Amino acid sequence: MAKQPNINKIVRQHIEMAEFFSGGLAVKTLTAEDAEHAEKNFKINSAPAAVLRQQDAGAVSAVKRTPCSPETVKELEELAEKTRKCRKCDLGSLRTNAVPGEGSPVARIMFVGEAPGADEDAQGRPFVGRAGQLLDKIIAACGLKRDEVWIGNILKCRPPDNRDPRPEEIIACLPYLQRQIELINPDIIVALGAHAAKTLLDTPKSIGQLRGIFHEYYPGIGHHPIKLMATFHPAYLLRNYSDDNRRKVWEDMKKVLAELGLPVPQRASK
Ligand code: URA
Repeated sequence: MAKQPNINKIVRQHIEMAEFFSGGLAVKTLTAEDAEHAEKNFKINSAPAAVLRQQDAGAVSAVKRTPCSPETVKELEELAEKTRKCRKCDLGSLRTNAVPGEGSPVARIMFVGEAPGADEDAQGRPFVGRAGQLLDKIIAACGLKRDEVWIGNILKCRPPDNRDPRPEEIIACLPYLQRQIELINPDIIVALGAHAAKTLLDTPKSIGQLRGIFHEYYPGIGHHPIKLMATFHPAYLLRNYSDDNRRKVWEDMKKVLAELGLPVPQRASK
């Protein structure tokens, strides 16, 4: 007889996962005043108050300071429209909705996943299912808002039964994402999972080998390379629940925040 799933265990895992990314670990961003108070009263290990005061004053932001041009916004919209009409591969005739990607055109971080799933196909929006809810928690744990970043995928259309993207589908679809990256020109790309990381870095290496260190994504001749951090896909995290895996994602995201000069949220005291 097939082994029954342990519902209690699954529910507990998901509650703990939610807590890890929304409450247990990263609820608080230290301000300079917090740090001063902590230094004086608790002798805790925090970023020096002076550094944080500088950050407060400099107001390092998750989005770029300069607005993008109306032409950029227009081209992003045109690209999205093209993906909705696209028939460059068979997925075009199987989709309910294309999922062009969404977010700030002045984002400093672009999250790139693999391909839309059933929920995304139904809504035409990226990362809105269970994996998306976890991504939202990771973004919130970083002290960021979903509309300050950009979120998209390697493929714009859902592969049937959520199978892996095929090489010919990636070849057909990738130019859309490449142009979106060129237009938004983020400071950092976060590649979620093996497919995104291997495609953008054009490498056969595993996600285990790629995650946790900065790589460079090359947008093409005449463009500066863009830093890329690979980390585990939220869906992988949901399937392979362990403290160790969650901690690895959190460590990767802390490196992204530090690289951007954004405050790194501290572990909340329970
Ligand atoms: N998984 C992905 O890779 N992308 C989505 O948009 C949703 C789930």
